[in-house]
Amino acid sequence: MMLKVPLKRPKPFPPGINDNMFPWATCTPFVDNKRAMLIHRPRAVITFTHMKMPYISVQAWCGNHFTGDDKFTFLDSIPDGGKLLCARCEIMATQVGLPSADELNGQHVHLGKLLVKRTCCQINTN
Ligand SMILES: [Zn+2]
Repeated sequence: MMLKVPLKRPKPFPPGINDNMFPWATCTPFVDNKRAMLIHRPRAVITFTHMKMPYISVQAWCGNHFTGDDKFTFLDSIPDGGKLLCARCEIMATQVGLPSADELNGQHVHLGKLLVKRTCCQINTN
């Protein structure tokens, strides 16, 4: 059976704004967005329809927010040698008392973060 964790219920929109939102009660503890560099820990997930097409909206514990139709893979464990788990997600999730990624995964999970690099006006360090 696939491991699932309870999710935070997102604040509802006012009536009439979007009546086609279906918040998930539980979810696998990890989500891989194929267009993102890191695996994240979902905090809230909503299925909604737009122009009669279904979409999924994922809010991660780190504050990142992803929306899409086919770019998510929900994971109950982190594949070996693949993407790193978002370190900020891990800090935020464990601070509110959720189990650590190591506990959920049954073995150590490597954490990572993205760094911004300036791409103009390089400083000559010679
Ligand atoms: Zn994250």
